[in-house]
Amino acid sequence: MSSDKAPFISRVSIKKCATYGSEETTAAVKEAVSLLGGMERFVRPGSRVLLKPNLLSARAPEEGVDTHPEIVRAVARLVKPITPHIFVGDSPGGWELRDIEKVYEKSGVKAVCEDEGLRLVKFDKPVETKGYPIASVITEVDSIISISKLKTHSTAILTGAIKNTFGVVVGLHKAQCHLRAPMPAQFASVLADVLSIVKPALSIMDGVIGMEGEGPAAGNLRNFGLILASADAVALDSVFAMLAGLDPLRVPMIYEAQKRGLGTAELKKIEVLGENAADIRIRNLKLPKTSLLFNLPRPLIALGIKAIKFYPRIDRNKCAACGLCANICARAAVKKTGNKKMAIDTDECIRCFCCHEVCTYNAITLYKSFLFRMISSR
Ligand code: SF4
Ligand code: SF4
Repeated sequence: MSSDKAPFISRVSIKKCATYGSEETTAAVKEAVSLLGGMERFVRPGSRVLLKPNLLSARAPEEGVDTHPEIVRAVARLVKPITPHIFVGDSPGGWELRDIEKVYEKSGVKAVCEDEGLRLVKFDKPVETKGYPIASVITEVDSIISISKLKTHSTAILTGAIKNTFGVVVGLHKAQCHLRAPMPAQFASVLADVLSIVKPALSIMDGVIGMEGEGPAAGNLRNFGLILASADAVALDSVFAMLAGLDPLRVPMIYEAQKRGLGTAELKKIEVLGENAADIRIRNLKLPKTSLLFNLPRPLIALGIKAIKFYPRIDRNKCAACGLCANICARAAVKKTGNKKMAIDTDECIRCFCCHEVCTYNAITLYKSFLFRMISSR
């Protein structure tokens, strides 16, 4: 290496993976982890390991909302020769604890746990950690492997390794975090807090089929054909942003996490291994409507959010009155109307978009305020 180059401080490996075929995913995940030195670098023999997929909702694997179960299987197969003590779990916002079984079943993760002999756990006991109700299992394991999903996100712009760690905040307590931190910069600070608690030993991203547009649940599926891995969750998300043509530091959670020293977002300090980044660019990634605000100069973003509002709106024809949106809403802004449908009280709404995220019927869309429609003519 010539002396004028900055030394790499983080590494991100990338392998192509076109389908969720079991052999193909196992090989791609294995190669991505091998490029980082192999699973032995991240898991000690006989230790207790938690695999933390992104299970947002009770959605089938082909819906592309949750981490695909075959990626969970592929990671588990790398860990099993090192230790038999493998736990798997997540805590989706909006879901009552008693209903979490539905998420595990529908996502296909329960079946993989049964096949592979993994212990599926519920994040039921919160332990107060640095001011957050964190699932007790986090304190009981020796290491955590985050298995995120490559998607866009209406609140965070992108969702990947950093955002996946927020799942350890127990169930409906997540709503209180949104209430405490309604602005994107504040919520990015919450995500950085939680990342600093979880500290995954290894982060793997399921980018085989991900989501663009109105993610993380109501966007369009897109075949990216990629598996990414890194010991540095911030670097992993930064490479995802870079591949999509975004400046990582424009993504609030990446900016905040790097500012806190939780990882690096400086691309010149990240070594990309495996695929050539130029060959796997994610061209024309469709971002959520809300991301328009993040094109403003940073000091103006908060002002822009106040002036240019997005609101969630429930499509009554699609709404099944399941109540998930009301469960997650920390402001009790979602109310039942007379005909058993739901409606949102925009005066109460803090526009955290948690309701949009949890709706399994894609019945909640985000619409722009009248002022913004006038300005943008869109
Ligand atoms: S909007 Fe969606 S989450 Fe809310 S009650 Fe209707 S179907 Fe359920
Ligand atoms: S109604 Fe508003 S405050 Fe309630 S969850 Fe939805 S976006 Fe958040």
